[in-house]
Amino acid sequence: HTFEELELGVVLSNVVSLMGYSKPTPVQRHAVTIANAGRDIMACAQTGSGKTAAFLMPVIKRLLLDGPTYPDEPAKTGRRMKAYPNALCLAPVRELACQIFEEARKFTYRSSLRVRVFYGGAPMGEQLREMEKGCDIIIGTPGRVIDLIERGRASMKFISFLILDEADRMLDMGFEPQIRTIVEDSGMPPPGERQTLLFSATFAREIQQLAADFLDDYVFLRV
Ligand code: AMP
Repeated sequence: HTFEELELGVVLSNVVSLMGYSKPTPVQRHAVTIANAGRDIMACAQTGSGKTAAFLMPVIKRLLLDGPTYPDEPAKTGRRMKAYPNALCLAPVRELACQIFEEARKFTYRSSLRVRVFYGGAPMGEQLREMEKGCDIIIGTPGRVIDLIERGRASMKFISFLILDEADRMLDMGFEPQIRTIVEDSGMPPPGERQTLLFSATFAREIQQLAADFLDDYVFLRV
């Protein structure tokens, strides 16, 4: 199996070879194919399986092809431009959010897509200044993402991709209310009008419930 089979397009294929990835891992092979077909995914995959690239590649491929979508007249909050990201990736902790961010930055290298990362326990000023330059893909921990939404600095209305990484860990850490607020009460398009990729190490009952609530006619993937 090769990366050519995943039809990533010229730009992304070049980045993949620059990154030194010679062939896709199993989760990449399956998840990219399924996501390219527009389907939602519930994937049980461990750290080290290459899961980060498995969800980033199809999302970035689609955003590169289609270009960003945003309102004709973007709102302002005070003097500040509100951001209208097209993809949101939630992760349990800062370290993981930063790893996803670094990988997403490589995949979007020299493209027009702007990736931003937000996590708690750090001053918000710097993160906000970055976001004011524009934000197409937002990666963050749940609490900080809620903060952004509540401050009117980011809108979820134009989200076409929602990714939950290490969802089991997020639930173990007690983030379920925050995740539900972001996904269900912040103006994000409902299942069926967005594409949702849910990654978890386990498929415990709580995760099954999350999948039932957040995903539309999903493909179950265990690698
Ligand atoms: P992850 O499971 O996403 O945490 O990835 C584990 C590690 O594998 C990361 O350091 C990636 O850079 C690396 N990796 C991801 N995909 C590939 C691939 N297709 N070939 C070689 N290394 C990879």
